[in-house]
Amino acid sequence: MITYIVFDFDGTIANTLDDIKEIVRTSVNDFCEDDFDLLRNEGIKEVIKRKKIPMYKIPKMILNITSQLKDKTNIPLFADMTKVLHTLATSYKLGIVSSNSEENIRQCLTKHQLDHAFEFVYSQSSLFGKDRVLKKMCQKHKLNLAEIVYVGDEDRDIMACKKVNIKNMAVCWGYNAEKRLWALNPDYIVTSPLQIIDVFCNKESQWHTNDSSI
Ligand SMILES: [Mg+2]
Repeated sequence: MITYIVFDFDGTIANTLDDIKEIVRTSVNDFCEDDFDLLRNEGIKEVIKRKKIPMYKIPKMILNITSQLKDKTNIPLFADMTKVLHTLATSYKLGIVSSNSEENIRQCLTKHQLDHAFEFVYSQSSLFGKDRVLKKMCQKHKLNLAEIVYVGDEDRDIMACKKVNIKNMAVCWGYNAEKRLWALNPDYIVTSPLQIIDVFCNKESQWHTNDSSI
């Protein structure tokens, strides 16, 4: 039975897409709109390959981008997200796992009156893989893998969940396009925030026909 819903932050709850674009444009040489489309449609590995970015440069680039992202304040949420999170919090325990700073995330939650909706905010760099972060999060907060659904916007979120055997939900309004997410075969896929309520709270929903764990 699912008791915990754990959310990714950037691109899932928080609309930091424009901030990320601005940071990447100023941090990576010759990064243009076509490259963002490539990122959405094919994933980050394909971008690295096509742009011929040397692997040794990747960790520094990621650290640079995430540290600049941590400086961004006044982060907006995606439309309907406040309603979705308040609704889910009445029936489930909620958490957030992110490489963004806990301070930034908490400030954003407070601004949207969501500070009491979450049991925890787990901030950890995913430089060595989000699967490791998910494992550490479960250890720290004593979570049972079988009782969690992780909600994220990227192909690597789905891959990480599959590695550690956590059920996953992919959302289509973030950094990867719907087609890319389908290719990774997530347990659930939603195209609007309100559909998340349908999946978790509407027991008559079509989503539950193949899965009795929620
Ligand atoms: Mg994300």
